[in-house]
Formats: sequence, C-alpha cells, structure tokens
Amino acid sequence: LLRLDDATVRFGGRAALDAVDLEVARHEIVCVLGPSGSGKSTLLRAVAGLQHLDGGRISLDGHDQRGVPAHRRGVGLMFQDHQLFPQRDVGGNVAFGLRVRGVDRREQAEHVRELLALVGLPGAERRAVSALSGGEQQRVALARALAPRPRLLMLDEPLGQLDRSLRERLVVELRQLFGELGTTVLAVTHDQGEAFALADRVVVMRDGRIAQSGTPLEVWQHPADAFVARFLGFDN
Ligand code: ATP
Ligand code: MG
Repeated sequence: LLRLDDATVRFGGRAALDAVDLEVARHEIVCVLGPSGSGKSTLLRAVAGLQHLDGGRISLDGHDQRGVPAHRRGVGLMFQDHQLFPQRDVGGNVAFGLRVRGVDRREQAEHVRELLALVGLPGAERRAVSALSGGEQQRVALARALAPRPRLLMLDEPLGQLDRSLRERLVVELRQLFGELGTTVLAVTHDQGEAFALADRVVVMRDGRIAQSGTPLEVWQHPADAFVARFLGFDN
C-alpha cells in the first residue's frame, strides 16, 4: 500500500528524514518508535503531503505521490495535539472531512452516527467538545480521521495526552477496531508498551533513519544494536 524509497527531508543542513526505505502492507498496523527529534512526525507529514521531500520517493498503491496534494492522497492524519474544532459540536467535528467532500447531509449524519458508536461514544453528536474528557476528545479526533475512510490512517501520538490506565484500555479497543475495519495504520508513539500492544510491526527510528524494523517479538528479543536495546530500556 505504502512505499518509501530513499525518502529524505532536510531542514537547514540536517536530515530529519535520512534516506528512509519503508513499506506498509494493506491491513498492517505499523508503530514508529524513537526518541524526540528522531523524525517520526516528519515521516508522517511527508506521507500525508504536508512536507515536501528533498530526495527519494513516496508511493501509494504503486503511484508516485510527487506533486499530489494532501487532500488527494486518500490518507488520514491525526495530529500529535489532536486539534478538534472547539466551536463545533462532536458531530460537526466528525463530519468535517465529509462536508468538505460534498457528501450529502443525510449520508453525513448516518455515517457520523456509525463512527461515534464505533469509537464508543454513541449518541454524542450534539455534545460540546469542551465538555468532553481528554479520552473522549481523543476518540472524537479518531472518528474524525476515520470518517473519509482513508486507505491509510496515520496517527501521531494518538493517546499522548492520556493517563496510563486509559491508554492501556484504548490500545486494546483500537487494535480491535482497526481489525474490524481492515484499516491500514501507521502510528507514532513514544511509548513502547503501546507500540508492542498495538502493532503488527514496530519501526524504531534514530536520527532520521530506521534503526530496526520487525515484529514486536523480534525487536524485543533481538534488538538490532546497542541503541535499540538502550531505547527499549535494556542494559541500564
Ligand atoms: P517528537 O517525539 O518530539 O515529536 P519527532 O520524532 O516527531 O519528535 P520531528 O518532529 O520529525 O521529530 O523532527 C525531526 C527533526 O527535524 C528535529 O530535529 C526537528 O527539530 C526538525 N524539524 C522538524 N520540523 C521542522 C521544521 N518545520 N523546521 C525546522 N526543523 C524541523
Ligand atoms: Mg513528533
């Protein structure tokens, strides 16, 4: 579904993404781990078309994405700070991507109803975003990202603002939800427990490069090098 070849992004003289090769298969859930500044968000932004490449290429379903604007890529991105529209109610937030695509009102309402049930907030359409808890807001942001049925859903620290017990519960729900929908997911997280619980495959980044890619078990049992081992919390 997604393929990066030699993808490079530079800021000033420094490569935030340094000749990255990566493939994500349909229905796969891939989690990107790595320290702050290792290029995780840059990777997602480049795939989404929000960040121009200085080298290499990105293709989706075999089509080179050079010059394809973000809204035509068919990918959804949920940002690190999920940025709901505070002046719209829950339904208005979830319907956003449908409205801009000109989906008719009745179909919008039906689809929003289904999505809210799916993320565990049935009937929440008219609630004010400001009156929701952090976890509920995160679910609304997720429903909004899912609404246009993106072929690839990218999540940047989707549970970043939540406490541990809520995260652990949501990770299990998300994994089940993505399985049911057959969604292909590329998710960034700081939290290795979250990555290992959610992912079919884990990608560890360091200084704009991929230090290791493998199943959670492979990475856990056989860290590729001392950096990965240290990052996973071994040998200290
Ligand atoms: P975090 O875990 O803190 O979110 P990250 O892995 O997502 O980190 P990126 O945001 O991808 O890291 O940043 C990678 C590098 O690129 C960092 O050194 C950062 O300072 C730099 N960078 C990112 N965006 C820009 C920008 N718009 N202009 C200049 N430098 C940038
Ligand atoms: Mg980031």
